[in-house]
Amino acid sequence: MASAPLMLENLLYKKRNLVYAFARHRLFLLCKQSLVRVQSAEGIKRIEISPKSNLKQLYDSVQTAMQVDGFGLFKERNFLTELQASGSQLVGTALKHGDMIYLKQMAGTSTRRTSTVAIENQVFKSTAASEKLSNSNTNSARPSTNVIEDEVDLNLSKADGTIKRERDSKLCHHNANGRCVHCSPLEPYDEAYLKENNIKHLSFHSYIRKQTSGMDHGKYFTYRHVDNVMFENTKIVERFLNYWRTTGHQRMGYLYGTYEPHTDVPLGIRATVAAIYEPPQESTRDSINMFPDEGDAEVDAVANALGLKKIGWIFTDLITDDATAGTVKQIRGIETHFLTAQECITAGELQNRHPNPCKYASNGVFGSKFVTICVTGDQTKQVHMEGYAVSAQCMALVRDDCLIPTKEAPELGYVRESTDKQYVPDVFYKRFLLDSVTISTEM
Ligand SMILES: [Zn+2]
Repeated sequence: MASAPLMLENLLYKKRNLVYAFARHRLFLLCKQSLVRVQSAEGIKRIEISPKSNLKQLYDSVQTAMQVDGFGLFKERNFLTELQASGSQLVGTALKHGDMIYLKQMAGTSTRRTSTVAIENQVFKSTAASEKLSNSNTNSARPSTNVIEDEVDLNLSKADGTIKRERDSKLCHHNANGRCVHCSPLEPYDEAYLKENNIKHLSFHSYIRKQTSGMDHGKYFTYRHVDNVMFENTKIVERFLNYWRTTGHQRMGYLYGTYEPHTDVPLGIRATVAAIYEPPQESTRDSINMFPDEGDAEVDAVANALGLKKIGWIFTDLITDDATAGTVKQIRGIETHFLTAQECITAGELQNRHPNPCKYASNGVFGSKFVTICVTGDQTKQVHMEGYAVSAQCMALVRDDCLIPTKEAPELGYVRESTDKQYVPDVFYKRFLLDSVTISTEM
């Protein structure tokens, strides 16, 4: 623990240009991973995994990366000592950075899997329950039948999802009923289509389709769980902002609403906000303190009766610039930060409390559809809203109490080292912890 600030300092001084990228793009993650090479009949593949992951997670990573099922991992070329997939032994105690391990396909189970698991390294902490589940079923990628998914997920997983195209009068040389490469429907994850339509992330369901298609070899894709947030009307936000308008103090609220398909993005999800509930809190110009909420359960019950649930949270960071002109200061942006590390931690905490039921995940949940909305000043000094979600990896770091805010630089967060083992792995910069979500308002 004591070594963490030191680590950050080293970074600031020794890798100045990296830190620049770090601050400019708000929140990169410092993460210690080790590299394991896996030799199979098809060649050698490198797998990055945390030394603190267990062997079950190593198996999951290998399964995802190599698209194999029913295999064993061995320490020796002649398959003498098998790494026990069921055990909770840590990767760091079984293997060293750079070790080669050997994959052996077991008899009768060498078929390519038809479904997959959308899981990254170290996303899930193995609980006793999930451990049991995966022991009884070596193929953890098989969809679990006892997970109750959200209605929007059930609908989207049944949806065709392909992108329909018209007959092209120039390129198509067939009759009206024919189909060719120029007019047949595209997959929801079609790269050219997404690029053309300026869609930067796959929707969660497109991501799942892509994973299960077997066409995702080695390629990295970002996805979003919720692609858009829509407020049913502007009054909801106006009423919420009244607190800040009358007191000058910040405010936080929970968003209640529904999840629906979002048609602008293939297989996308939209969070529609119907109401904002402001729980007990005490705030100033610069801070918000939350109090325990005794009415919490009742609010949820009333919302449920109305067909609504808690789908996110909203907070203000507004400072008046010119009271007569009604402008506010721009405090956040690409040059500083969009969310502070502390806000990312809060978002991660709330997302962890609202996990997304998912039948493809070995423990029945994956990621979260809970959204974060910050109301702050934009470039034109107008009040505007920004929507975000933190990644599944960030959720895991928050859950394990590994992500720490920094007081001096609110845009920086770093990962706590929980053990002081001899092991000195490489430091990797991982992708953003934060994804932005578009926001729209019904007129
Ligand atoms: Zn055609």
